[in-house]
Amino acid sequence: MTSFQSLDAFAAGKLETLDRKALRRQPRETRHSDAVTVERDGRSLINACSNDYLGLAHHPEVIEAAREATARWGTGSGASRLVTGGHPLLFELEARLAAFKGTQDCLVFGSGYLANLAITPALVGAGDLVLIDQLAHACLFAGARLSGARVEVFRHNDMAHLSDLLTTHRASARHAMVLTDGVFSMDGDLAPLPHMLALAEQHDAWTLVDDAHGIGTLGGGRGSAHAFEPAAEAPLQMGTLSKALGSYGGYLCASHTVCELLRSRARPLVFTTALPPASVAAALKALDLIAADPDLCARPLRLAERFCTALGLAKPVSPIVPVVLGSSERALSVSKALEAQGFLVTAIRPPTVPDGTARLRITFSAAHRENDIDRLAASLASLTASVEAAQ
Ligand SMILES: *Cc1c(COP(=O)(O)O)cnc(C)c1O
Repeated sequence: MTSFQSLDAFAAGKLETLDRKALRRQPRETRHSDAVTVERDGRSLINACSNDYLGLAHHPEVIEAAREATARWGTGSGASRLVTGGHPLLFELEARLAAFKGTQDCLVFGSGYLANLAITPALVGAGDLVLIDQLAHACLFAGARLSGARVEVFRHNDMAHLSDLLTTHRASARHAMVLTDGVFSMDGDLAPLPHMLALAEQHDAWTLVDDAHGIGTLGGGRGSAHAFEPAAEAPLQMGTLSKALGSYGGYLCASHTVCELLRSRARPLVFTTALPPASVAAALKALDLIAADPDLCARPLRLAERFCTALGLAKPVSPIVPVVLGSSERALSVSKALEAQGFLVTAIRPPTVPDGTARLRITFSAAHRENDIDRLAASLASLTASVEAAQ
């Protein structure tokens, strides 16, 4: 057997296992015609699983800003910012994000995933401690493991467990970090930030909150910290430009000193090409639109509430509503039936979510019409009732 053949045999074996568990992922050709409509196999579907919470990825002014930036400055940025310098638009975006989040400084990364690969390893390493919520996003885990620090996982949102782990392990570590999502991406619940920040303060641990789903959707758009009164602001606030801001890229808002350190030390910033001008200009325009229309950011959560009321589900705290169905097969079958009725709601399966909790993850956009939401609720009610009856 050649090495080409042994490699293919290895991949085929792995795929077989995935198929057996209904876990193979096969992205399908899908055209996004507007903020809430997609076309697939010649049919038009209402998109109820996008993270474009404000519909800004298709907003005419955002598109125009990206088009102008491309025409003027080109399609690519050419190199890392440390090599060729950063475009003035990028500095402007960082200043705007820092002002929006109320921090001294901000750093923009190639994506949210890259930001999390960068932040934790730049701050802690061997001899340090990282405490991370069990349901935190995969890229927070990736950053934690990459750092080389000791990683301890606390039960989801369980502050008593976090407190125990800090009491047991903090003293033997030089530095410590606490890592969490602000809004949990697959469950839509919020981290108990006031309690967590108080514990971290008590033990001198640095808290990193990943607010990928909070920026633009909670606290008037400023994020999950502002869903609390008073606001619960962590020293390290990261997020993405790729969801509610309708663009691409990631950011960290923090003190000037911390951002300065990362500018020199964060490898996924130093050794990767800067964002293209179009993405930067689109994010800037998105921030303008958010500032100009305070009601825009409140709309996705209002639609989620309408949906949950219709289905008798608990009141949501973010525009992400999970409908947990258990097995991957069941989640796939309900997703497929919804598609037949005109809705795109992709099934979310392990390892994205824990075994036995495959689900539909429904997300709401400011661009949805109330009528779309009411029809989706009705379809889902009848489908899950019939799936239950068939079992
Ligand atoms: C989507 C997401 C990311 C990754 O952001 P990208 O910009 O898409 O790379 C990070 N954290 C959370 C919680 C996310 O949901």
